Amino acid sequence: MARADVIVLGAGTVGTSIALHLAKRGLSVALVDRAGPGEGTSYGNTGIIEGNTIFPQAFPSDWATLIRIALKRAPEANYHLTFLPKIAPWLLAFRAASRPERLLETVQLMRPLFARAIAEHDTLSAEAGAGRYLRRNGWLKLYRGDRSFAAQARELELAATLGITNVPLDGEAARALEPSLHPVFRHAVHWTGAVSVSNPLALTRAYAARLAALGGIMLSGDARSLHRSEPHWRVDSSAGPVDAGDVVIALGPWAPDVLDPLGVKLPLAVKRGYHRHFRAQGNAGLSRPILDAENGYCLTPMEQGIRLTTGTEFAARDAPPTPGQFGRLLPAAHDLFPLGEPAEPAPWLGARPCFADSRPVIGRAPRSRGLWLAYGHGHWGLTLGPATGRLIAEMMTGATPFCDPKPYSADRFLH
Ligand SMILES: Cc1cc2nc3c(=O)[nH]c(=O)nc-3n(C[C@H](O)[C@H](O)[C@H](O)COP(=O)(O)OP(=O)(O)OC[C@H]3O[C@@H](n4cnc5c(N)ncnc54)[C@H](O)[C@@H]3O)c2cc1C
Repeated sequence: MARADVIVLGAGTVGTSIALHLAKRGLSVALVDRAGPGEGTSYGNTGIIEGNTIFPQAFPSDWATLIRIALKRAPEANYHLTFLPKIAPWLLAFRAASRPERLLETVQLMRPLFARAIAEHDTLSAEAGAGRYLRRNGWLKLYRGDRSFAAQARELELAATLGITNVPLDGEAARALEPSLHPVFRHAVHWTGAVSVSNPLALTRAYAARLAALGGIMLSGDARSLHRSEPHWRVDSSAGPVDAGDVVIALGPWAPDVLDPLGVKLPLAVKRGYHRHFRAQGNAGLSRPILDAENGYCLTPMEQGIRLTTGTEFAARDAPPTPGQFGRLLPAAHDLFPLGEPAEPAPWLGARPCFADSRPVIGRAPRSRGLWLAYGHGHWGLTLGPATGRLIAEMMTGATPFCDPKPYSADRFLH
Protein backbone atom coordinates (compact mmCIF):
# COMPACT_ATOMS: atom_id res chain seq x y z
CA MET A 1 0.00 0.00 0.00
CA ALA A 2 1.52 3.31 -1.11
CA ARG A 3 0.56 6.46 0.72
CA ALA A 4 0.97 10.05 -0.42
CA ASP A 5 -0.19 13.44 0.77
CA VAL A 6 -1.86 14.08 -2.58
CA ILE A 7 -2.86 12.00 -5.59
CA VAL A 8 -3.02 13.97 -8.85
CA LEU A 9 -5.09 12.23 -11.51
CA GLY A 10 -4.03 13.14 -15.05
CA ALA A 11 -0.49 13.91 -16.21
CA GLY A 12 -1.22 16.50 -18.87
CA THR A 13 0.34 19.96 -18.72
CA VAL A 14 -2.14 20.88 -15.99
CA GLY A 15 -1.80 17.82 -13.72
CA THR A 16 1.99 17.58 -14.09
CA SER A 17 2.38 21.28 -13.23
CA ILE A 18 0.13 20.84 -10.16
CA ALA A 19 2.11 17.81 -8.98
CA LEU A 20 5.34 19.73 -9.42
CA HIS A 21 4.09 22.76 -7.49
CA LEU A 22 2.90 20.52 -4.64
CA ALA A 23 6.21 18.66 -4.54
CA LYS A 24 8.10 21.96 -4.48
CA ARG A 25 6.13 22.81 -1.33
CA GLY A 26 7.30 19.62 0.35
CA LEU A 27 4.22 17.40 -0.14
CA SER A 28 4.52 13.76 -1.22
CA VAL A 29 2.71 13.40 -4.54
CA ALA A 30 1.57 10.46 -6.67
CA LEU A 31 0.84 11.49 -10.28
CA VAL A 32 -1.37 8.88 -11.94
CA ASP A 33 -2.15 8.49 -15.64
CA ARG A 34 -3.05 5.58 -17.87
CA ALA A 35 -0.54 6.88 -20.45
CA GLY A 36 2.75 8.79 -20.25
CA PRO A 37 2.99 12.45 -19.18
CA GLY A 38 1.76 14.90 -21.82
CA GLU A 39 0.37 12.26 -24.18
CA GLY A 40 -3.29 13.41 -23.99
CA THR A 41 -4.60 16.77 -25.21
CA SER A 42 -1.36 18.36 -24.10
CA TYR A 43 0.48 16.49 -26.85
CA GLY A 44 -1.14 18.11 -29.82
CA ASN A 45 -1.69 21.82 -29.29
CA THR A 46 -0.48 24.84 -31.23
CA GLY A 47 2.26 25.46 -28.69
CA ILE A 48 1.42 29.06 -27.85
CA ILE A 49 1.98 30.25 -24.29
CA GLU A 50 -0.14 33.31 -24.51
CA GLY A 51 0.20 35.58 -21.52
CA ASN A 52 -1.27 38.11 -23.93
CA THR A 53 -4.63 36.47 -24.44
CA ILE A 54 -7.37 39.04 -24.32
CA PHE A 55 -10.72 37.89 -25.67
CA PRO A 56 -11.72 34.24 -25.42
CA GLN A 57 -13.13 32.46 -28.46
CA ALA A 58 -16.70 33.63 -28.98
CA PHE A 59 -19.86 32.28 -30.57
CA PRO A 60 -20.14 33.86 -34.06
CA SER A 61 -22.17 37.07 -33.91
CA ASP A 62 -22.95 37.45 -37.62
CA TRP A 63 -25.32 35.42 -39.75
CA ALA A 64 -22.89 35.08 -42.66
CA THR A 65 -20.40 33.15 -40.51
CA LEU A 66 -23.15 31.05 -38.92
CA ILE A 67 -24.54 30.10 -42.32
CA ARG A 68 -21.10 29.17 -43.65
CA ILE A 69 -20.57 26.96 -40.59
CA ALA A 70 -24.05 25.43 -40.93
CA LEU A 71 -23.35 24.62 -44.58
CA LYS A 72 -19.95 23.15 -43.61
CA ARG A 73 -18.17 25.66 -45.78
CA ALA A 74 -16.24 27.36 -42.98
CA PRO A 75 -12.64 26.18 -42.62
CA GLU A 76 -12.57 27.23 -38.96
CA ALA A 77 -15.39 25.04 -37.61
CA ASN A 78 -17.15 21.72 -38.05
CA TYR A 79 -19.87 19.75 -36.27
CA HIS A 80 -21.64 16.39 -36.16
CA LEU A 81 -25.33 17.04 -36.78
CA THR A 82 -26.47 14.23 -34.49
CA PHE A 83 -24.44 15.73 -31.64
CA LEU A 84 -26.04 19.19 -31.75
CA PRO A 85 -29.18 18.34 -29.71
CA LYS A 86 -26.95 16.93 -26.93
CA ILE A 87 -24.79 20.03 -26.79
CA ALA A 88 -27.59 22.58 -27.35
CA PRO A 89 -27.79 23.81 -23.69
CA TRP A 90 -24.03 24.30 -23.63
CA LEU A 91 -24.11 26.17 -26.96
CA LEU A 92 -26.83 28.48 -25.64
CA ALA A 93 -24.75 29.20 -22.55
CA PHE A 94 -21.72 29.78 -24.79
CA ARG A 95 -23.69 32.22 -26.93
CA ALA A 96 -24.86 34.09 -23.82
CA ALA A 97 -21.26 34.27 -22.54
CA SER A 98 -20.20 35.70 -25.93
CA ARG A 99 -22.16 38.94 -25.52
CA PRO A 100 -19.72 41.89 -25.55
CA GLU A 101 -20.20 42.78 -21.87
CA ARG A 102 -19.75 39.14 -20.79
CA LEU A 103 -16.58 38.80 -22.90
CA LEU A 104 -15.19 41.87 -21.21
CA GLU A 105 -16.02 40.37 -17.82
CA THR A 106 -14.22 37.15 -18.80
CA VAL A 107 -11.16 39.16 -19.84
CA GLN A 108 -11.06 40.77 -16.39
CA LEU A 109 -11.67 37.54 -14.48
CA MET A 110 -9.04 35.60 -16.43
CA ARG A 111 -6.41 38.35 -16.46
CA PRO A 112 -4.66 37.35 -13.20
CA LEU A 113 -4.05 33.82 -14.50
CA PHE A 114 -2.88 34.93 -17.96
CA ALA A 115 -0.67 37.59 -16.43
CA ARG A 116 1.25 34.85 -14.51
CA ALA A 117 1.31 32.32 -17.36
CA ILE A 118 4.71 33.02 -18.86
CA ALA A 119 6.48 33.72 -15.57
CA GLU A 120 5.29 30.36 -14.16
CA HIS A 121 6.44 28.47 -17.28
CA ASP A 122 9.76 30.31 -17.08
CA THR A 123 10.29 29.13 -13.52
CA LEU A 124 9.27 25.51 -14.10
CA SER A 125 11.14 25.20 -17.39
CA ALA A 126 14.32 26.67 -15.89
CA GLU A 127 14.13 24.26 -12.94
CA ALA A 128 13.41 21.36 -15.31
CA GLY A 129 16.24 22.27 -17.68
CA ALA A 130 13.66 22.65 -20.46
CA GLY A 131 14.26 26.28 -21.43
CA ARG A 132 15.40 25.16 -24.90
CA TYR A 133 11.78 24.32 -25.86
CA LEU A 134 10.60 27.92 -25.33
CA ARG A 135 10.84 30.49 -28.14
CA ARG A 136 10.55 34.15 -27.24
CA ASN A 137 9.69 35.82 -30.51
CA GLY A 138 5.91 36.12 -30.10
CA TRP A 139 3.31 35.08 -32.64
CA LEU A 140 1.76 36.62 -35.71
CA LYS A 141 -1.92 37.00 -36.57
CA LEU A 142 -2.37 37.55 -40.30
CA TYR A 143 -5.36 39.28 -41.94
CA ARG A 144 -5.99 38.91 -45.64
CA GLY A 145 -8.60 41.68 -45.86
CA ASP A 146 -9.14 45.15 -44.43
CA ARG A 147 -12.46 44.19 -42.84
CA SER A 148 -11.14 41.35 -40.72
CA PHE A 149 -8.25 43.54 -39.60
CA ALA A 150 -10.60 46.39 -38.72
CA ALA A 151 -12.65 43.94 -36.64
CA GLN A 152 -9.62 43.57 -34.31
CA ALA A 153 -9.69 47.27 -33.36
CA ARG A 154 -11.44 46.54 -30.05
CA GLU A 155 -8.88 43.91 -29.10
CA LEU A 156 -6.01 46.28 -29.87
CA GLU A 157 -7.63 49.07 -27.86
CA LEU A 158 -8.07 46.79 -24.88
CA ALA A 159 -4.49 45.56 -25.24
CA ALA A 160 -3.33 49.16 -25.01
CA THR A 161 -5.27 49.75 -21.79
CA LEU A 162 -3.93 46.50 -20.30
CA GLY A 163 -0.36 47.29 -21.40
CA ILE A 164 -0.08 44.20 -23.60
CA THR A 165 2.54 44.73 -26.26
CA ASN A 166 1.80 44.23 -29.94
CA VAL A 167 2.97 45.72 -33.18
CA PRO A 168 0.49 46.15 -36.06
CA LEU A 169 2.31 45.55 -39.36
CA ASP A 170 1.55 45.78 -43.04
CA GLY A 171 2.04 42.68 -45.16
CA GLU A 172 5.54 43.62 -46.22
CA ALA A 173 6.77 44.23 -42.68
CA ALA A 174 5.29 40.90 -41.56
CA ARG A 175 7.06 39.14 -44.43
CA ALA A 176 10.31 40.69 -43.28
CA LEU A 177 9.78 38.67 -40.06
CA GLU A 178 8.64 35.51 -41.89
CA PRO A 179 10.09 35.63 -45.42
CA SER A 180 8.65 32.23 -46.46
CA LEU A 181 5.06 33.52 -46.26
CA HIS A 182 3.44 34.32 -49.58
CA PRO A 183 2.07 37.88 -49.94
CA VAL A 184 -1.61 36.91 -49.69
CA PHE A 185 -2.36 39.02 -46.59
CA ARG A 186 -2.51 42.77 -46.14
CA HIS A 187 -2.17 43.18 -42.38
CA ALA A 188 -0.66 41.46 -39.37
CA VAL A 189 -0.36 41.93 -35.64
CA HIS A 190 2.83 40.76 -33.98
CA TRP A 191 2.02 39.85 -30.37
CA THR A 192 5.55 40.29 -29.19
CA GLY A 193 5.22 39.09 -25.61
CA ALA A 194 3.92 35.59 -26.35
CA VAL A 195 6.18 32.55 -26.00
CA SER A 196 5.85 29.40 -28.08
CA VAL A 197 6.92 25.80 -27.57
CA SER A 198 8.81 23.70 -30.10
CA ASN A 199 7.64 20.40 -28.56
CA PRO A 200 4.77 20.47 -26.01
CA LEU A 201 5.15 16.74 -25.27
CA ALA A 202 8.84 17.14 -24.44
CA LEU A 203 8.04 20.11 -22.18
CA THR A 204 5.51 18.14 -20.11
CA ARG A 205 7.90 15.18 -19.95
CA ALA A 206 10.62 17.51 -18.64
CA TYR A 207 8.22 18.80 -15.94
CA ALA A 208 7.46 15.17 -15.01
CA ALA A 209 11.18 14.33 -14.83
CA ARG A 210 11.65 17.30 -12.49
CA LEU A 211 8.80 15.97 -10.34
CA ALA A 212 10.58 12.62 -10.09
CA ALA A 213 13.80 14.41 -9.11
CA LEU A 214 11.88 16.07 -6.25
CA GLY A 215 10.67 12.66 -5.02
CA GLY A 216 7.22 12.61 -6.65
CA ILE A 217 6.06 9.28 -8.00
CA MET A 218 4.54 8.66 -11.40
CA LEU A 219 2.16 5.70 -11.53
CA SER A 220 0.24 3.98 -14.27
CA GLY A 221 -3.42 3.49 -13.35
CA ASP A 222 -7.05 4.07 -14.24
CA ALA A 223 -8.45 7.18 -12.58
CA ARG A 224 -11.94 5.68 -12.72
CA SER A 225 -10.90 3.38 -9.87
CA LEU A 226 -10.95 6.41 -7.50
CA HIS A 227 -13.08 5.79 -4.42
CA ARG A 228 -13.26 6.59 -0.73
CA SER A 229 -11.46 4.20 1.57
CA GLU A 230 -12.11 6.04 4.80
CA PRO A 231 -10.47 8.21 5.89
CA HIS A 232 -8.64 8.47 2.54
CA TRP A 233 -9.12 8.57 -1.20
CA ARG A 234 -7.81 5.46 -2.95
CA VAL A 235 -6.90 4.78 -6.56
CA ASP A 236 -5.62 1.52 -8.06
CA SER A 237 -2.35 1.59 -9.94
CA SER A 238 -0.12 -0.99 -11.57
CA ALA A 239 1.99 -0.77 -8.40
CA GLY A 240 -1.05 -1.48 -6.19
CA PRO A 241 -3.51 0.83 -4.43
CA VAL A 242 -2.44 4.35 -3.44
CA ASP A 243 -4.07 6.30 -0.61
CA ALA A 244 -4.05 10.03 0.05
CA GLY A 245 -6.02 12.55 2.05
CA ASP A 246 -6.41 14.82 -0.99
CA VAL A 247 -6.91 14.10 -4.65
CA VAL A 248 -6.80 16.52 -7.59
CA ILE A 249 -8.80 15.77 -10.72
CA ALA A 250 -6.73 17.11 -13.63
CA LEU A 251 -8.10 14.82 -16.31
CA GLY A 252 -8.89 17.50 -18.90
CA PRO A 253 -11.67 16.26 -21.21
CA TRP A 254 -11.92 12.97 -19.29
CA ALA A 255 -12.70 14.58 -15.91
CA PRO A 256 -16.44 13.75 -16.12
CA ASP A 257 -15.59 10.01 -16.36
CA VAL A 258 -14.46 10.19 -12.73
CA LEU A 259 -16.57 13.05 -11.40
CA ASP A 260 -20.02 12.10 -12.69
CA PRO A 261 -20.09 8.81 -10.73
CA LEU A 262 -19.05 10.79 -7.62
CA GLY A 263 -22.04 13.10 -8.13
CA VAL A 264 -19.93 16.12 -9.15
CA LYS A 265 -21.63 16.97 -12.42
CA LEU A 266 -20.36 20.17 -14.06
CA PRO A 267 -21.33 21.32 -17.58
CA LEU A 268 -18.13 20.53 -19.48
CA ALA A 269 -18.13 20.17 -23.27
CA VAL A 270 -15.28 19.50 -25.64
CA LYS A 271 -14.21 21.44 -28.69
CA ARG A 272 -12.36 18.90 -30.76
CA GLY A 273 -9.32 19.97 -32.79
CA TYR A 274 -6.89 18.29 -35.19
CA HIS A 275 -3.30 18.73 -36.14
CA ARG A 276 -1.05 17.38 -38.83
CA HIS A 277 2.66 17.94 -39.43
CA PHE A 278 3.95 18.89 -42.85
CA ARG A 279 7.42 19.18 -44.23
CA ALA A 280 8.25 22.59 -45.68
CA GLN A 281 9.18 22.82 -49.34
CA GLY A 282 12.84 23.58 -50.13
CA ASN A 283 14.42 25.96 -47.64
CA ALA A 284 11.10 27.44 -46.48
CA GLY A 285 10.64 27.82 -42.75
CA LEU A 286 8.76 29.57 -39.97
CA SER A 287 10.31 30.99 -36.84
CA ARG A 288 7.10 31.50 -34.81
CA PRO A 289 3.41 30.44 -34.85
CA ILE A 290 1.07 32.20 -37.26
CA LEU A 291 -2.71 32.42 -37.41
CA ASP A 292 -4.55 32.82 -40.70
CA ALA A 293 -7.38 34.83 -39.16
CA GLU A 294 -9.97 34.50 -41.93
CA ASN A 295 -9.45 30.75 -42.19
CA GLY A 296 -9.10 29.90 -38.51
CA TYR A 297 -6.05 27.62 -38.54
CA CYS A 298 -2.51 28.01 -37.21
CA LEU A 299 0.89 26.94 -38.48
CA THR A 300 3.59 26.39 -35.85
CA PRO A 301 7.18 25.28 -36.34
CA MET A 302 7.59 22.15 -34.20
CA GLU A 303 10.43 19.65 -33.88
CA GLN A 304 8.23 17.21 -35.83
CA GLY A 305 7.60 19.62 -38.75
CA ILE A 306 5.22 22.49 -39.48
CA ARG A 307 2.17 21.72 -37.31
CA LEU A 308 -1.13 22.79 -38.81
CA THR A 309 -3.83 22.99 -36.12
CA THR A 310 -7.52 23.38 -36.81
CA GLY A 311 -10.28 25.34 -35.10
CA THR A 312 -13.28 23.80 -33.40
CA GLU A 313 -15.27 20.64 -34.11
CA PHE A 314 -18.44 20.05 -32.06
CA ALA A 315 -18.76 16.29 -31.77
CA ALA A 316 -18.82 13.65 -29.05
CA ARG A 317 -15.41 13.33 -27.42
CA ASP A 318 -15.00 9.70 -28.42
CA ALA A 319 -16.68 9.78 -31.85
CA PRO A 320 -14.42 8.64 -34.71
CA PRO A 321 -12.27 11.38 -36.30
CA THR A 322 -13.83 13.34 -39.18
CA PRO A 323 -10.98 15.60 -40.31
CA GLY A 324 -12.97 17.11 -43.21
CA GLN A 325 -11.86 20.61 -42.17
CA PHE A 326 -8.45 19.90 -43.70
CA GLY A 327 -10.04 19.70 -47.14
CA ARG A 328 -11.55 23.16 -46.60
CA LEU A 329 -8.48 24.90 -45.20
CA LEU A 330 -5.55 23.25 -46.99
CA PRO A 331 -5.97 25.33 -50.16
CA ALA A 332 -5.67 28.50 -48.03
CA ALA A 333 -2.69 27.06 -46.14
CA HIS A 334 -0.86 26.15 -49.37
CA ASP A 335 -1.66 29.62 -50.63
CA LEU A 336 0.02 31.14 -47.58
CA PHE A 337 3.06 28.93 -47.00
CA PRO A 338 4.95 26.38 -49.13
CA LEU A 339 3.77 23.27 -47.29
CA GLY A 340 5.23 19.99 -48.52
CA GLU A 341 4.21 16.40 -47.81
CA PRO A 342 2.43 15.43 -44.57
CA ALA A 343 4.81 13.86 -42.07
CA GLU A 344 2.36 11.22 -40.79
CA PRO A 345 -0.40 9.17 -42.43
CA ALA A 346 -3.39 10.66 -40.59
CA PRO A 347 -4.18 13.78 -38.52
CA TRP A 348 -4.06 13.72 -34.71
CA LEU A 349 -7.33 14.43 -32.90
CA GLY A 350 -7.64 16.09 -29.49
CA ALA A 351 -10.48 17.49 -27.38
CA ARG A 352 -10.24 20.89 -25.67
CA PRO A 353 -12.06 20.66 -22.30
CA CYS A 354 -14.31 23.73 -22.24
CA PHE A 355 -16.81 25.40 -19.96
CA ALA A 356 -19.20 27.76 -21.73
CA ASP A 357 -17.88 30.79 -19.83
CA SER A 358 -14.30 30.09 -21.02
CA ARG A 359 -13.04 29.79 -17.45
CA PRO A 360 -11.48 26.64 -15.96
CA VAL A 361 -12.57 25.14 -12.67
CA ILE A 362 -9.80 25.40 -10.09
CA GLY A 363 -10.41 24.70 -6.41
CA ARG A 364 -12.37 22.44 -4.07
CA ALA A 365 -15.12 20.23 -5.40
CA PRO A 366 -18.51 21.11 -3.94
CA ARG A 367 -19.53 19.02 -0.92
CA SER A 368 -16.63 16.54 -1.18
CA ARG A 369 -13.90 16.35 1.43
CA GLY A 370 -10.36 16.31 0.03
CA LEU A 371 -11.51 16.43 -3.59
CA TRP A 372 -9.96 19.18 -5.73
CA LEU A 373 -10.65 20.15 -9.33
CA ALA A 374 -8.36 21.63 -11.99
CA TYR A 375 -9.69 21.16 -15.49
CA GLY A 376 -11.64 22.85 -18.28
CA HIS A 377 -8.81 25.05 -19.56
CA GLY A 378 -10.25 24.98 -23.07
CA HIS A 379 -8.07 26.68 -25.64
CA TRP A 380 -5.46 27.66 -23.05
CA GLY A 381 -4.38 24.63 -21.02
CA LEU A 382 -0.77 24.73 -22.17
CA THR A 383 -0.61 28.41 -21.30
CA LEU A 384 -2.29 28.13 -17.91
CA GLY A 385 -1.00 24.77 -16.59
CA PRO A 386 1.84 26.13 -14.41
CA ALA A 387 -0.17 29.15 -13.16
CA THR A 388 -2.98 26.73 -12.25
CA GLY A 389 -0.44 24.51 -10.49
CA ARG A 390 0.75 27.37 -8.38
CA LEU A 391 -2.74 28.61 -7.53
CA ILE A 392 -4.13 25.26 -6.43
CA ALA A 393 -0.96 24.34 -4.54
CA GLU A 394 -1.25 27.60 -2.62
CA MET A 395 -4.90 26.88 -1.84
CA MET A 396 -4.17 23.31 -0.75
CA THR A 397 -1.29 24.27 1.52
CA GLY A 398 -3.08 27.20 3.15
CA ALA A 399 -0.77 29.83 1.61
CA THR A 400 -2.15 33.13 0.36
CA PRO A 401 -3.19 32.51 -3.26
CA PHE A 402 -1.46 34.79 -5.77
CA CYS A 403 -4.90 35.80 -7.06
CA ASP A 404 -8.51 35.53 -6.00
CA PRO A 405 -9.56 31.97 -6.93
CA LYS A 406 -13.30 32.71 -6.69
CA PRO A 407 -13.90 33.27 -10.44
CA TYR A 408 -12.64 29.71 -11.07
CA SER A 409 -14.70 28.03 -8.37
CA ALA A 410 -17.09 25.19 -9.29
CA ASP A 411 -19.66 26.97 -7.11
CA ARG A 412 -20.54 29.21 -10.06
CA PHE A 413 -22.44 26.24 -11.52
CA LEU A 414 -24.46 25.55 -8.38
CA HIS A 415 -27.85 27.19 -8.43
C1 LIG B 1 -5.76 21.65 -31.71
C2 LIG B 1 -5.48 22.26 -30.35
C3 LIG B 1 -4.68 23.40 -30.25
C4 LIG B 1 -4.44 23.98 -29.00
N1 LIG B 1 -3.57 25.04 -28.90
C5 LIG B 1 -3.25 25.56 -27.68
C6 LIG B 1 -2.28 26.59 -27.56
O1 LIG B 1 -1.67 27.03 -28.52
N2 LIG B 1 -2.04 27.08 -26.32
C7 LIG B 1 -2.67 26.62 -25.21
O2 LIG B 1 -2.42 27.13 -24.12
N3 LIG B 1 -3.55 25.58 -25.29
C8 LIG B 1 -3.85 25.05 -26.50
N4 LIG B 1 -4.76 24.02 -26.60
C9 LIG B 1 -5.45 23.56 -25.39
C10 LIG B 1 -4.57 22.67 -24.53
O3 LIG B 1 -3.89 21.72 -25.32
C11 LIG B 1 -5.45 21.97 -23.49
O4 LIG B 1 -6.22 22.93 -22.79
C12 LIG B 1 -4.55 21.26 -22.48
O5 LIG B 1 -3.72 20.33 -23.13
C13 LIG B 1 -5.38 20.54 -21.43
O6 LIG B 1 -4.45 19.96 -20.56
P1 LIG B 1 -4.90 19.00 -19.41
O7 LIG B 1 -3.68 18.64 -18.64
O8 LIG B 1 -6.06 19.59 -18.70
O9 LIG B 1 -5.50 17.73 -20.20
P2 LIG B 1 -4.75 16.52 -20.92
O10 LIG B 1 -3.46 16.95 -21.53
O11 LIG B 1 -5.73 15.88 -21.82
O12 LIG B 1 -4.40 15.56 -19.72
C14 LIG B 1 -5.37 14.69 -19.16
C15 LIG B 1 -4.68 13.37 -18.86
O13 LIG B 1 -5.63 12.51 -18.26
C16 LIG B 1 -5.30 11.18 -18.64
N5 LIG B 1 -6.47 10.32 -18.46
C17 LIG B 1 -7.68 10.43 -19.05
N6 LIG B 1 -8.51 9.47 -18.61
C18 LIG B 1 -7.81 8.74 -17.69
C19 LIG B 1 -8.12 7.63 -16.86
N7 LIG B 1 -9.31 7.04 -16.87
N8 LIG B 1 -7.16 7.14 -16.06
C20 LIG B 1 -5.92 7.71 -16.02
N9 LIG B 1 -5.57 8.77 -16.77
C21 LIG B 1 -6.51 9.28 -17.60
C22 LIG B 1 -4.90 11.32 -20.10
O14 LIG B 1 -4.10 10.22 -20.51
C23 LIG B 1 -4.16 12.65 -20.09
O15 LIG B 1 -2.75 12.49 -19.98
C24 LIG B 1 -5.03 23.41 -27.84
C25 LIG B 1 -5.81 22.27 -27.94
C26 LIG B 1 -6.03 21.68 -29.18
C27 LIG B 1 -6.84 20.43 -29.26
